[in-house]
Amino acid sequence: MPREILVVGSTALDSVETAHGRVTDVPGGSAFFFSAAAVRYAPVLVVGVVGEDYPLHRLEPLKALGVSLEGLEIVPGGRTFRWGGRYHADMMGRDTLFTELGVFESFQPRIPAEARRRPVLFLANIQPRLQLDVLDQMADPELIVTDTMNLWIDTALEDLKQVIARTHILIVNDEEARQLTGQRTVLGAARALRRMGPRTVVVKKGEHGALMLNGERLFAAPALPLEQVVDPTGAGDTFAGGFVGSLAAEAVVDDAALRRAVIRGSALASFSVEAFSLDRLLSVTAHELDERLGQFAALAEFRLA
Ligand code: AMP
Repeated sequence: MPREILVVGSTALDSVETAHGRVTDVPGGSAFFFSAAAVRYAPVLVVGVVGEDYPLHRLEPLKALGVSLEGLEIVPGGRTFRWGGRYHADMMGRDTLFTELGVFESFQPRIPAEARRRPVLFLANIQPRLQLDVLDQMADPELIVTDTMNLWIDTALEDLKQVIARTHILIVNDEEARQLTGQRTVLGAARALRRMGPRTVVVKKGEHGALMLNGERLFAAPALPLEQVVDPTGAGDTFAGGFVGSLAAEAVVDDAALRRAVIRGSALASFSVEAFSLDRLLSVTAHELDERLGQFAALAEFRLA
C-alpha cells in the first residue's frame, strides 16, 4: 500500500512566454505540478490557498487523477498568487516578469486534523516560514522532503536553514546548491548540504539530469534528450512529484528505491515540459509512462566489454 503524501506549496495562476507561444493565467504553482506527478504512485493531499478568482473547474482533471484538494483554502474576495515568466531562446534561462503573492501574503496553513499523521510530507517551494509552520503541525512524518528557490536563499536564509535542518531529503537545483553553500562544484555543494541536516541531497541540473548524494553514495541520472521543449515551467516540481510519489510507494527507502525514484521523477518531468501548464502531465497514460521509463533505462546502459 503506498503511503499517503501531504504537500504544501504554491497554488498559482501562471503567465508564460516561450518560443512556442504564450499563455495567461493557467494553472501552475509548485504544489499543483508536484501533485499531478506524485499521484501516479501514491495518494496526495494539497494544502494551499487561492483567491475567489481561481478557475476551479480547471482543477477538475487533477481531481480526476485522484489528487485531494480538501486542504485548498479559497479566500473570499482574495486574489490568487500569480507568477509570470519569459524563457530565453535556449529554453534554459528565464526572466521572472512578476510575482504577485496575493492571498499567500497572509496565508496561515492549516493542516486538516486527519492529515497531520500523514507519513510523507513534501514541502514544495514556498516561503520557508510557511514550511516551518507546516512542520510544527505535523505528527513526526517518516519522510520529510523539501524544495526551495533562490528567492528564499536571498530573503529568508535563517528560516530556510531551520527547514533544511529538519529535512530528510533536500531537492535543489545546481545554482541554489552553490548559492546555499558557497561551494564551486556540485559534489562539494551536495556534501555541504548534507552537513546542514538531510541524509540525502538531490541536485537538479535541468537538461543535464540530476545528481543524488545518499550518504556517501552517488547516483547520476540523465535527463531524456527531447527534440521539442514547449514550456519548462514546473519541471523541477514535477521531478519532485515523481520522486516523492515513487518513494511513498516503496516498502523500504533504501539506495535502490532512491535511484528508482530519481528516474521516475525525471521521466515525469520529461512529459511536463512537452506542453504548457499541467496539460501534458494530466494526459500521460500508464503505458506512455512505462515506455518512457524504458527509454531511461536504455539511455545510460552500457557494457564494459
Ligand atoms: P519551476 O519551473 O520548477 O521553478 O517552478 C515554476 C512554478 O513555481 C510556477 O508554476 C510558479 O507558479 C511557481 N513559483 C514561482 N515563483 C514562486 C515563489 N516565489 N514561491 C512559490 N512558487 C513560485
